Amino acid sequence: MHLATRKAIYRRLQAANPEPTTELLYNTPFELLVAVMLSAHTTDKSVNAATAKLFPVANTPAALLKLGEDGVKPYLKTVGLYNAKTKNLVGLCKQLIEKHGGEVPADREALEALPGVGRKTASVVLNMVFGQIEIAVDTHIFRVSNRTGLAPGKTPLAVEIALMRNTPDEFKKNAHHWLLLHGRYVCVARVPACPKCIIKDLCEYPDKTPAPALKLSDAPIARQRPHPMQGSGRMSSNRSSPRHKPATRKPARLK
Ligand code: SF4
Repeated sequence: MHLATRKAIYRRLQAANPEPTTELLYNTPFELLVAVMLSAHTTDKSVNAATAKLFPVANTPAALLKLGEDGVKPYLKTVGLYNAKTKNLVGLCKQLIEKHGGEVPADREALEALPGVGRKTASVVLNMVFGQIEIAVDTHIFRVSNRTGLAPGKTPLAVEIALMRNTPDEFKKNAHHWLLLHGRYVCVARVPACPKCIIKDLCEYPDKTPAPALKLSDAPIARQRPHPMQGSGRMSSNRSSPRHKPATRKPARLK
């Protein structure tokens, strides 16, 4: 894919959502680390439901460690794989206290050494908390990168490397959120909402969903009325509410 096309894709995603962020709810770096760690193989909605009850009770490593596995587990029952995640969360708190003074480390190696924290979680934290240029690749970003031709790759790491190489510098900081939200709301796994997609003329996917089949799509955008700017490649801007309250704001293209 040519540089001009890649730039055009990011420009449109940026115009539709100038200040993208996570849909996980958090107020501190530690809460973000916990929320991202819990979000593996489950929805942000289920994580938010769990942390909405857990964080008011315990939102520091010391407080969660004091609760212990038996005290934490009931809060995580809405989250997939909650048994393993409970164990990891308590182990993570113990390690943060013993090795990092209870603080979230700004270092990939230290983050990935924490129980339950992999490359993707570490990348999100490094990007969002410490402002480092990282493009974490989850299932949505993997799919969108391959379909569009932005960054084809057979593994998440291969896609991440390709995204870092192919994404113009000015878009790298927010690329993760733009691609993730596009995959979650438009370019969904089963039947992508191509007729409503703001980058359909730039995307190189050969099997785009034809307009008559849009009703088969389970993409949230497919169930919404046409946006006034649909098809023009221009979307209205939608400035966000405070950064740590992302769920109160949706990308402009979802209106
Ligand atoms: S045109 Fe279709 S396949 Fe391409 S990015 Fe948009 S929704 Fe995905």
